[in-house]
Amino acid sequence: MIASVLPTYNRAPLQFAHGEGSWLVTDDGRRFLDMGAGIAVNALGHAHPALVTALTEQAGKLWHVSNLFEIPQQQALADRLVESTFADTVFFTNSGTESLELVVKMARRHFFDAGQPERTTIIGFEGAFHGRSNAAIAAAGAEKMTKGFGPLMPGFRHLPWGDHDALHAAIDDTTAAILIEPVQGEGGIRPLPDQCLRGLRELCDERGILLILDEVQCGMGRTGKLFAHEWAGVAPDIMMVAKGIGGGFPLGAVLARERAAAAMGAGTHGSTYGGNPLGCAVGLKVMEIVADPAFLEDVRRKAGVLRQRLEGLVAEHGDVFEGVRGSGLMLGLKCTEMVTNAELVRAGHAARLITVPAADNVVRLLPPLTITDDEIAEAAARLGTAARETPRKEPA
Ligand SMILES: *Cc1c(COP(=O)(O)O)cnc(C)c1O
Repeated sequence: MIASVLPTYNRAPLQFAHGEGSWLVTDDGRRFLDMGAGIAVNALGHAHPALVTALTEQAGKLWHVSNLFEIPQQQALADRLVESTFADTVFFTNSGTESLELVVKMARRHFFDAGQPERTTIIGFEGAFHGRSNAAIAAAGAEKMTKGFGPLMPGFRHLPWGDHDALHAAIDDTTAAILIEPVQGEGGIRPLPDQCLRGLRELCDERGILLILDEVQCGMGRTGKLFAHEWAGVAPDIMMVAKGIGGGFPLGAVLARERAAAAMGAGTHGSTYGGNPLGCAVGLKVMEIVADPAFLEDVRRKAGVLRQRLEGLVAEHGDVFEGVRGSGLMLGLKCTEMVTNAELVRAGHAARLITVPAADNVVRLLPPLTITDDEIAEAAARLGTAARETPRKEPA
C-alpha cells in the first residue's frame, strides 16, 4: 500500500521537535548540530529571535490580502533589494521553482517585445538544478529528473560545465539567454570561476542575449557576499532567489534590470501568495541582518575557519575525503571511491551532525550563517567521528 505521504523523498528516520540557532533537538532531547540549515534555507539558524518577532507581529495583524492591493511589506522588501543589488525591479514568489518559471517567461517576453520572437532558447549546463516544475526539469535536463515526464518543454539546451568552445558554438539566432548557478549546489558544490562568470557576461553582451543567474542556493550571504556574482564584479540581467531569503518562511524572488523586465507589464504574470505580508515581513528582517557589511565580513571570516578545519579533515582522513570545494559557507567535501556520501551523511547522524549529500559523491556543508566558531570546531570534530565510522568499500 502506498504511504499516506506520497513517497517521493528518501527520508532519514529522524524528527525534530524544535530548533535553536545551529541546533536541532529531537523530542527525547538529542541535540544535532545542523550543518545543512534546511538546504541553505535557515540562513539565520532556527528560531532567530528577530525573525520570530517579525513573523508573530505580522501574524497578529494581517496574513493575506492578495496582490489586488498594495502590500507595504512587499514594497519595503523590494526597495531594500533594489537598493542593495544590481536590480531595478523585483517579483516575489514562494519558491525557487516559481522563480525559474518567471525567468523563462521574462527572457522570452523580452525578445518577443524586442521584435525577435525567434529568440526563445535558454542555454543551461550539465549538473544544474533549478527546481522540479516542468520548465525547471527541462531547464536542467538531467535524466534523473526528466525520465518519464515527457514531452518536455522545448527551448532548452544543455552544455558541459566549463566547455567554452561548445558555448560559443551553441549561441545562435534562437538564443535568448544563458542560465547558470554561480556555485552549483545539487550538482556537487561546483563554483564557477570568477573569470568564467566575467566571460559569460562579456559573451552575453557581445551576442545580445541575457545572463540569468540562479542564486537560489548560493545567494543571500551564503558565499560571504550578499550575492555570489558580486565576487566576479559583474551582474546578471535577471536573477533567481529563494531559500535563504525567507530564513525558513517560503519566499522567493526574481530580481531584474529594467531593460530585461520592461516587457512584463500588468497581466503578464502573477501569484496568489507571492509577496504576502508574512513572507515579506520576515524577508525584510532577513535582509536587514544579512545585508549588513559587518555580518557579511564575519561570514567570510568564519568561512575561512570552516574551510581550514575541513582541509585538516582531508589531510587526516585521506581515505575518506579527496578535497574541499565551494565558496564561503557553501562548502563540499568530495568523498573518495572508498566511501559513499550517503553513508557518510548517515554516520554523521549517528554522531549527531546534519550534513547534506550532493551529486558527484560530495557531502555539503551549508551551516546557518550565524554559526559560531565553537560550533564550527564541534562540527569538524563530529565530521571526524563520522569519517572514522563510515563503512569502507571492499576493494574491487
Ligand atoms: C533549491 C533550488 C531551486 C528550487 O527551489 P525550490 O524552492 O525547491 O523550488 C532552484 N535552484 C537552485 C540552485 C536550488 O538550490
